[in-house]
Amino acid sequence: MAVEAKQETRGFQTEVRVLLDLMIHSLYSNKEIFLRELISNASDAADKLRFDALQNDGLYEGDAEFKIRVEYDKKQKTISVIDNGIGMSREEIIEHLGTIARSGTRQFFESLTGDQSKDAQLIGQFGVGFYSTFIVAKKVEVISRRAGLPGTEGVRWVSTGEGEYTIETIEHPQRGTKVVLYLKDEAKEFLDGFRLRGIIKRYSDHISLPIIMPVEGKDEKGDETVNNATALWVRNKKDIKEEEYHEFYKHVAHDFQPPLAYLHHRVEGKLEYSSLLFIPAHAPFDLWDRQQRHGVKLYVKRVFIMDDAEQLVPSYLRFIRGIVDSDDLPLNVSREILQRNKMIDAIRSGCTKKILGLLQNMARKESGKYSEFWKEFGRILKEGIIDEADKREDLAKLFRFSSTHEDQEEQTVSLEDYVARMQQDQKAIYYITSDSFATARNSPHLEIFRKKGLEVLLMSDPIDEWVTTHLHEFAGKPLQSVMKGKLDLGDEKEEKDSNISLVNNELNELTDRIKKVLESRVKEVRATRRLTSSPACLVADEHDMGRTLERILRASGQKVPASKPILEINPEHPVIHRMKQETDESVFADWSNILFEQSLLSEGGQLDDPAGFVQRLNHMFLQLGEKHS
Ligand code: ADP
Repeated sequence: MAVEAKQETRGFQTEVRVLLDLMIHSLYSNKEIFLRELISNASDAADKLRFDALQNDGLYEGDAEFKIRVEYDKKQKTISVIDNGIGMSREEIIEHLGTIARSGTRQFFESLTGDQSKDAQLIGQFGVGFYSTFIVAKKVEVISRRAGLPGTEGVRWVSTGEGEYTIETIEHPQRGTKVVLYLKDEAKEFLDGFRLRGIIKRYSDHISLPIIMPVEGKDEKGDETVNNATALWVRNKKDIKEEEYHEFYKHVAHDFQPPLAYLHHRVEGKLEYSSLLFIPAHAPFDLWDRQQRHGVKLYVKRVFIMDDAEQLVPSYLRFIRGIVDSDDLPLNVSREILQRNKMIDAIRSGCTKKILGLLQNMARKESGKYSEFWKEFGRILKEGIIDEADKREDLAKLFRFSSTHEDQEEQTVSLEDYVARMQQDQKAIYYITSDSFATARNSPHLEIFRKKGLEVLLMSDPIDEWVTTHLHEFAGKPLQSVMKGKLDLGDEKEEKDSNISLVNNELNELTDRIKKVLESRVKEVRATRRLTSSPACLVADEHDMGRTLERILRASGQKVPASKPILEINPEHPVIHRMKQETDESVFADWSNILFEQSLLSEGGQLDDPAGFVQRLNHMFLQLGEKHS
């Protein structure tokens, strides 16, 4: 029975339109990558079928020899890429070639600036894929038949890349997918066997399936394999060129740019596996999405088993891309089995060790490269301190922070640097946490440290709060928040001499008066040495939760037990002197509240009653005005 054509025209999802437009305009100088993308998809399609066929070898339909064919036709001005992989059904084509289903896509497109040269960089983070065909083609035709569907019904998808495509059901016995590009005039250069072979060698040599082209020459007939056609990770490291690793990375990671670094490793003995792992140069746009799809792929004896096998590397290394190929796991391994498999645990710990080793080496020998890494992935690596108790010290060595001893915001100071330049009698590694770098750097809590030349690490990534609750010491030195507890700078003598510890009646009277006003807002009011130019600041009690962490948790909707801060005042400050002399209790109450509120603001906190604060401030201005008039 002939199949019913069921032809229809559909519009692309808005995001696809934007992507198409941007791609055509930004990648024209790198046109040839379309072939790499098509071959990469064809190879994935073979992997998928091979995997499904493990459960049902009827899917092979008598043809288990995977290959990719590349043909061109000078007269028709077409290039075709043909595979015998899994193919696509009508629904799948609509879904895969008309929409982008990655979560975070909308936000990604909203982040585009409209400035094409800037956006062209971003497109790399997104991955170019199938749509790159429209850089060279004025029309693209995709003909496909899904493996396992009964009958000979296939589907044809056609588009000129201008907002719409048509799709129809056709008679098509051949399993797999054929993509035909009708080239634009300015892309005719690709109608050249020599050129196409060059592109395949350059970008797709590592593909493990044979890529076949017809033999060139007048009297020549038959086909030849153009690429190396063995899995890259099986080959001897010595024979693999850097570019081949790079191209392989672009294929597995769907990235557009080369990786920052890679590791190729083979383990032999009781457990045998190969790993080829990459650190990308840039974080993908959806790295923060825990559901993001591309990760480390699992192969068993060269057969692709699954994408994003999250058990292969810990979650704090989820930016790693690549493959692990095990010789020992069964081919029918499932995600459930992976979760409690001793071999997987061993592979994971082996890979983790290798990756951390690579990073340590990079930090030591290529600090510029390491800071690029840190900028992109540091915040994720920091999560490791929570997940892996036994690697705390190793991980902490890799961390970088901003510091009062550096000018720029960039996180460049290691804990080892810090410890090496600690002052002679300094007892602790001091840090401050805050919501932003500027708030941390300008915090009044740092004043005495600045004066004494003591270095303080400025931490403003939300994850830093967890880092400091899990990392209590480094190289035998405790980590100490400058916003918590009593200040102990290890200079008892100096402290005694300063007029704070002189239990000064006048001062006690003042702190008691302030405490009475702020009864409901603070736990205690006390004099401090922390400040040199600000009148007051807030600190948390030694064993209370840090104030920044409290704010982060509240902002994320969690219930946090209320703990009142301690207000510390600077007895030397003119404002404090002035307060001492204030006899009008209602004015004094205003001053006390303002003191509390400005301390809260300067640590990046929010006022419960901002209007009340503004009223008090205006009230004070008026009083000043009255005095002067
Ligand atoms: P990506 O390859 O990054 O997922 P593409 O835009 O290149 O993105 O392709 C989108 C999807 O279309 C693929 O994920 C795959 O499901 C499907 N697809 C593309 N080419 C083929 C093919 N030759 N065979 C089967 N499916 C394909």
